[in-house]
Amino acid sequence: MNEVVTNRDGESITVEQERQILDSINRWLDRDVRDNVLELEHADEYPHAMVEQMKDLGLFGATISQKYGGLGLPSRTYSKIVSTIAEVWMSLTGIFNSHLIMAAAVERFATDAQKDRLLPRIATGELRGGLALTEPDCGTDLQAIRTVARRDGDDYVINGTKTWISNGIEGNCVALMVKTDTDIQPRHKGMSLFLAEKGPGFTVGRKLEKLGYKGIDSGELIFDNYRISAANLIGAQEGQGFVQTMGGLELGRINVAARGVGVANAALKDATSYAQVRETMGKPIGQHQAIQLKLGDMATRCEAARLLVESAATAYDRGERCDMEAGMAKLFASEAAMENASECMRIHGAYGYSKEYHVERYYRDAPLMCIGEGTNEMQRIIIARQQMARNPV
Ligand SMILES: Cc1cc2nc3c(=O)[nH]c(=O)nc-3n(C[C@H](O)[C@H](O)[C@H](O)COP(=O)(O)OP(=O)(O)OC[C@H]3O[C@@H](n4cnc5c(N)ncnc54)[C@H](O)[C@@H]3O)c2cc1C
Repeated sequence: MNEVVTNRDGESITVEQERQILDSINRWLDRDVRDNVLELEHADEYPHAMVEQMKDLGLFGATISQKYGGLGLPSRTYSKIVSTIAEVWMSLTGIFNSHLIMAAAVERFATDAQKDRLLPRIATGELRGGLALTEPDCGTDLQAIRTVARRDGDDYVINGTKTWISNGIEGNCVALMVKTDTDIQPRHKGMSLFLAEKGPGFTVGRKLEKLGYKGIDSGELIFDNYRISAANLIGAQEGQGFVQTMGGLELGRINVAARGVGVANAALKDATSYAQVRETMGKPIGQHQAIQLKLGDMATRCEAARLLVESAATAYDRGERCDMEAGMAKLFASEAAMENASECMRIHGAYGYSKEYHVERYYRDAPLMCIGEGTNEMQRIIIARQQMARNPV
């Protein structure tokens, strides 16, 4: 009972406390979320009431240190929370995931004065946002961004466009990646990260329509002579933005992998139940070997994905470099979600294609996990490079 889980800053919770947190999340999901998902999903409606409840649960400060008012949860505990919520409605996890990646960049790289000023407001959800990296012309090749910040006295003036930004519409701030030097080589030395609050010159272009991941806002953000104080340059030093962002992506990939586990589990659970009640040829379809083969593969994928997430999260909590582990977890868990969603749909026959059930949503939500936080093609490349770097000849 006294076994503890510790985060990378040395803050611990007991395994019993972890269980209590997960219990309270499950009670919330059963009481306020589960029965409302289909309606909000199909209306593509932002879940305002649930966001307030997530504030009360402390989710916007889940991984922020207790000294800044957060829960200081280890990544291992946090990833279990993400999987648990994603199993019911994956969209909800995006609302606090991107926010906490923004928070991680501040907590790991900001000056002490910036942390004192920003983190308590981020932890309560008073400041709520995400990470603004992607632009219309570049996602994977982040060093090609064109948003520029020019120094003007004690301020910077920013011009450019960001797109696909989660929480960009309903949130009130973003960690904003810009170029402070467009000529320097290598290009990443000219990149900087600001904590940018909405104000004159920072507007929403449009809400983007999507295949899945409904309810949550994905926005285009426009910066038109947006003036921001130099005090909001994270780390108070130009040229650090790329490194600061890459540091946060390890946690981001573990989170996306945890979402994959949630969707893969949801598909497995629905398929397992349906296989025992739907009958053909005089017996439940789960008695046919063709369906058993699917369920066997689905269950195995879920367990393997869960273990990869736990392994990556544990390495992250120990403060180790874990880009390879996070990449493996993200790659495997997102592909597991894709495959399980597809098999779940086949097992449900026509009902899998119906908007009256959850199955078709898993099928629409799963592909996002293969794209977000670095595509799965890039994960394979990161894993391969680390594989060689860790095994030189
Ligand atoms: C719903 C949603 C939410 C998002 N939320 C955010 C957010 O909050 N903040 C944010 O900044 N971004 C966000 N994104 C953007 C996301 O991070 C990018 O879409 C992703 O990084 C891929 O970039 P891209 O779409 O420009 O594809 P591209 O970079 O144009 O890639 C296209 C294809 O080429 C492949 N490819 C590219 N380069 C290489 C290479 N060197 N080697 C091999 N293959 C390569 C890719 O794997 C992909 O298959 C979101 C996207 C979606 C769909």
